[in-house]
Amino acid sequence: MYRPAYYQQLSKRMGAMSVREKYDIDRHDERLKTLRLLTTLLAIFYFSYTLVDIYLLPDIALRSLLLRGLVMLPLTFFLFAYYKRSVSIRRKELAAVLVISLSAVVWCAILLGSENERVLSYFYAGLVFLMVLTIVLTPPFEQSLYSSLFVFACLYSSIWFLSGSTSFYVINHLSLGVPVLVLTLMANYRFSAESLRLYLENVSVEQLREELAARNEELERISHIDPLTGLTNRRGLTRYADDLQQHPNAQRCIAAMLIDVDHFKAFNDFYGHSEGDNCLRDVANAIRDACRAEDMVCRFGGEEFLVLRSNIHSSASEILALAEDIRVKVMELAIPHQPTQEMQVTISVGVCVASVVTNTELGTLIKAADAALYEAKRQGRNRVRLNSHPDHDSDLAQLSVGNINPAL
Ligand code: GH3
Ligand code: MG
Ligand code: MG
Repeated sequence: MYRPAYYQQLSKRMGAMSVREKYDIDRHDERLKTLRLLTTLLAIFYFSYTLVDIYLLPDIALRSLLLRGLVMLPLTFFLFAYYKRSVSIRRKELAAVLVISLSAVVWCAILLGSENERVLSYFYAGLVFLMVLTIVLTPPFEQSLYSSLFVFACLYSSIWFLSGSTSFYVINHLSLGVPVLVLTLMANYRFSAESLRLYLENVSVEQLREELAARNEELERISHIDPLTGLTNRRGLTRYADDLQQHPNAQRCIAAMLIDVDHFKAFNDFYGHSEGDNCLRDVANAIRDACRAEDMVCRFGGEEFLVLRSNIHSSASEILALAEDIRVKVMELAIPHQPTQEMQVTISVGVCVASVVTNTELGTLIKAADAALYEAKRQGRNRVRLNSHPDHDSDLAQLSVGNINPAL
């Protein structure tokens, strides 16, 4: 049996269904179309040979008419009806093989009734049945093998009873019959194996393509995520900005919030880099928890985070409340930071809200939030500052801890 390595691999991947079954299902329609066409052609040949019988062997004309008409014609109709049933293509091919094998038996039975000496040369036509069962119909190899052996046995057991048959004639007939059987069977085997191989290659390529697409999608997803915090990274932010650029007419009010951990260098120096990483993770989680799922929460730089909330209302109160909430939540983490006045990790936040249409305007908004952050740092850290106008760095609202002015 033809079993390349990937045949077995695919078998495993396809689970309970064998490759052969999948192959039969996938190729059902195409094979049925060919099967119908071939059956029609073969039926035309077979029944038109009644005329050849009558012409060459007039003594068996009635026998030929009766056997072909009463046995083979109903079977042919049955075969076409069977093709319409919802059974596997293998069964349909098997039905065709059985009917053709039977037609060979009927043909032998017709010729055995003749006393005409022409029957011996006509009997060579019996080899056509072998060729039909191997290379014309090209059914699955097993079906082809058993049916052609059956017809071969049928031909060479009838041959002795033909009128005027001699051992010389039989050997002469065999000298043609054996090579026809062997060679056409080999051709069938190669054809079956080759079609299966081509099919498997196609399946393999299709599966690889799907796997590659899934991996690319995963890589694309991972490339936008910061590995330390699991937040969106700068690349993800660029995509967000590009999306914004692609819909330039969609006017939207965006709030930008830049968050920076206070005295983080000192934290790293005092507690070590790995504790610093843990601290960044905790702060990132606190920010994520305070935000909505649709907010863009990004690790902007080392210990800096950016939150973008789009489609907010014209007042800054919403985003200022969020900023304050995040600041409090980070304090509630109560991460010790001995070298600082507060003795715990705190953050400073710069906020700005503006109507953003383009990528560039988003950049300006973030810069304005950065200016507000700078102010928060300058005024002593652990506070929220609002830049009330993105185009003027100096136009900063006087906001600090516990002193939040929600007006823009
Ligand atoms: P300020 O309050 O003014 O923000 O002071 P700062 O010390 O927080 O700011 P500075 O920019 O001087 O230092 C930031 C530090 O953050 C320096 C760098 O070692 C640290 N850092 C940046 N990225 C990482 C990281 O991924 N892990 C750790 N552990 N530390 C980081
Ligand atoms: Mg800092
Ligand atoms: Mg910083």
